Amino acid sequence: MEAVLDDPETKIDGFLAAGHVCSIMGIDEYYPIVEKFKVPIVVTGFEPVDLLHGILMTVRQLERGEYKLENQYSRIVKDEGNVNAKKVINDAFEILDREWRGIGTIPASGYELRKEFQAFDANKKFNIDLPKVREHEICIAGDILKGKKKPHQCEAFGKTCKPETPLGAPMVSSEGACAAYYHYSNQDAITT
Ligand code: SF4
Repeated sequence: MEAVLDDPETKIDGFLAAGHVCSIMGIDEYYPIVEKFKVPIVVTGFEPVDLLHGILMTVRQLERGEYKLENQYSRIVKDEGNVNAKKVINDAFEILDREWRGIGTIPASGYELRKEFQAFDANKKFNIDLPKVREHEICIAGDILKGKKKPHQCEAFGKTCKPETPLGAPMVSSEGACAAYYHYSNQDAITT
């Protein structure tokens, strides 16, 4: 989120923070982001009513000119998250730099098994050397992630790039912005 917001051209007004992640990790890490970027963050569940409620809470903050962290998913998410699960994660993994498609390398943004658990690392055990994934030159996934462009403003959208023939990450996953636009937007109403 910081990598997205650090771009001065980012057009993100607010975030729905993923409730399933927060059920484990808690919500404390979001406070500094809210303060630094003055942006509303609403921890939100996944039922349709949760999503509508999270959007409503975000819009109300924006209309009032507020920015704060709110927890729409409080029936599941506690401020501290799942303390036991976090301890297991911290015991097993260490934090390292990680490449994010459409954005590039973000410092301290990924996990890797600690040395004492590397016998369980499938990449090492099976000698897997995954090729570096290159973005298709036409794909504007980074701009989509940062809200600088809408999926239908990509020249490949719905033409060479579809869910069955994706050119970038946002079209691969059903949760991706391009796939969501493809499935649920009114194509006839979209004007570029
Ligand atoms: S429509 Fe396809 S090519 Fe264009 S930004 Fe989305 S994923 Fe990338």
